[in-house]
Amino acid sequence: MSNADPIVIVGGGQAAGQLADSLRREGYGGAVTVLCDEPMPPYQRPHLSKLYLAGILDHEKLLYRPRDFYAERGITVMSGRRATRVDAAARQLHLDDGSTLPYAGLALCTGAVARRLPVQDADASGVHCLRTLADCEQLRAALPAATRVVCVGGGLISLEAAGVMAAMGKHVTVLAAQHRVMESAGTPEVAAFFAAEHQKRGIDIRTGCSVTGIDTENGAVCAVLTARGERIPADLVLVGIGVEPEVALAQAAGLACDNGIVVDEFARTSVPSIVAAGDCTRHPNAILGRSLRLESVHNAVEQAKTAAATLCGKQRAYAQAPWFWSDQLGFRLQIVGLAGREPRTVLRGDPASGSFAVWCFEGERLVACQSVNRPREYMACRRMLENDLLPTPAEVAHPRFDPEARLPRKAPLAFQRRSVPGVVA
Ligand code: NAP
Repeated sequence: MSNADPIVIVGGGQAAGQLADSLRREGYGGAVTVLCDEPMPPYQRPHLSKLYLAGILDHEKLLYRPRDFYAERGITVMSGRRATRVDAAARQLHLDDGSTLPYAGLALCTGAVARRLPVQDADASGVHCLRTLADCEQLRAALPAATRVVCVGGGLISLEAAGVMAAMGKHVTVLAAQHRVMESAGTPEVAAFFAAEHQKRGIDIRTGCSVTGIDTENGAVCAVLTARGERIPADLVLVGIGVEPEVALAQAAGLACDNGIVVDEFARTSVPSIVAAGDCTRHPNAILGRSLRLESVHNAVEQAKTAAATLCGKQRAYAQAPWFWSDQLGFRLQIVGLAGREPRTVLRGDPASGSFAVWCFEGERLVACQSVNRPREYMACRRMLENDLLPTPAEVAHPRFDPEARLPRKAPLAFQRRSVPGVVA
């Protein structure tokens, strides 16, 4: 691909915005178009369940890069326009207005879509999800008239939004199908801490409680029905039960997909000239030693940088320890690594103080750290995981264990290195 050929990026989240930015940083001088079906340039979804829902954050602050950023760099943003088909043989993207965009390189950053509640009347008026800005605007518009809110799901969307809505004075109930909240992301210690903090604020947390139906009155939700036979009155329901990768375009174009668009460590799909990045990809992670799909800002941004380098003919493998964060009730949870559902754990600090860290092991091997209001401990663990300087559970449990002192001064994070040797899991 020459420096003058057009590149088209499909998507409106952080992966799409970063990819456009990184193409120019890599020196790409050709035409770059970002095509997103939402009505604004790429924006940051994490705020939607936090500051934006609370009404604290200005609309423009959601943008991943300011509006002028793209024009200043000669990047065309086509908002409100949907890609309907990829013709990989002709290297053309078909759009919903019947037009086509030719490309020399195509980047799919199509993200994910919110999972629907698999019960009757899941689309009744008053039942919301929270994935896009439009979802959030609808939820915000409905909130002033709502008094009883039910959040379905025990994950991050549900808990973050429950905290915000309780602070607005709503009576909030959280229904988690699993036996604890945050079952997929949080250790039992972290889950117990956040469940207790929510309860202290009057939020009714019910675990092991799956939803069997939505009761309606004149087409609007009036209650949520559970498998235990409960009928919980509600005038607003927020469904946060996870997402599905958006792979329809990729699948129809013949790209390999397996719970996500399959890419290698260079973000290359199975079709030449097409890369993919973000929530929609299934990719190898050399640090974890396996392939996986990640739903996180970190993955979107760092994989997008790799995809941009690939489109520019450079090889820069993406291999980093995954990290996540969540803001709930004034606490910041930071997670690095993947703990699995029941890891061996070492607790440092006292949850009662609101500052602690849970170090997670698979046998003797450090695999993750989940910290609440302890950013230095989280960061030290991140450097340990990325530099393979792993302490044992006994070392971490020692009262005089100092995570930072244990690291050599030069233990950089992967993204700080120019290139990372690629290893396919
Ligand atoms: P999530 O964190 O994956 O949690 C969804 C929870 O709902 C999971 O525990 C899931 O269980 C459960 N679930 C699945 N089907 C269900 C059903 N029919 N009834 C009840 N529960 C069900 O997803 P989310 O909270 O909806 O968030 C959506 C996305 O936004 C995720 O990618 C999340 O990572 C992201 N997000 C990130 C942040 C952050 O980083 N701070 C904040 C909010 C959201 P299983 O795991 O067993 O399927």
